[in-house]
Amino acid sequence: MKTKKHWYDYLWIASTLYLLLGFINILFAWLGLLCFFIPLIISIVKGNKAYCNKYCGRGKLFNLLGNKLGLSIKRECPTILRRQWFRYSFLIFFLTMFGNMIFVTYMVFGGSRELVNVVKLLWTINFPWNFSYNNSISPWIAQFAFGFYSVMLTSTVLGIITMIFFKPRTWCVYCPMGTMTQAICKVKNHGKE
Ligand code: SF4
Repeated sequence: MKTKKHWYDYLWIASTLYLLLGFINILFAWLGLLCFFIPLIISIVKGNKAYCNKYCGRGKLFNLLGNKLGLSIKRECPTILRRQWFRYSFLIFFLTMFGNMIFVTYMVFGGSRELVNVVKLLWTINFPWNFSYNNSISPWIAQFAFGFYSVMLTSTVLGIITMIFFKPRTWCVYCPMGTMTQAICKVKNHGKE
């Protein structure tokens, strides 16, 4: 039986567009803040994971690639990824890297550091990204965009790798946003969720 499609079933298009727009103009990376704040707001206000369950375009993209397009070999996710200590360690690591990105943006804002037109993949590999920035705006705004796009690209690449070798939405098991919203829901619902 066919299940009825909803508008949010197509949000994988938004996630794909986001990645493509980063090649055209890096300033579009600022839009990624929506994927940061909306899940937090939903979990704080509603105390549930509606964002993960319904609205996350990235989760839907992995589902599409892995299930519909058959790009996943669908092995069970390694137990270590499910462990609480691993998920929280990864969250702390992710937030530390995020904080470092904000600090670099602040230094560029203060003039103590120059803008670096690179996208950093997996926190280590630098890709020159001059083609998507035309020096038309304050350097700190561009620096944040490069940093934030690096975070989004890195998490997508990690998600795609785990999608291929394990079940399609394995990234969701250790996704920092998922861990954060789950923790918020737990506190909000007094440990019930
Ligand atoms: S766990 Fe992360 S990637 Fe998965 S649905 Fe939630 S926010 Fe999206």
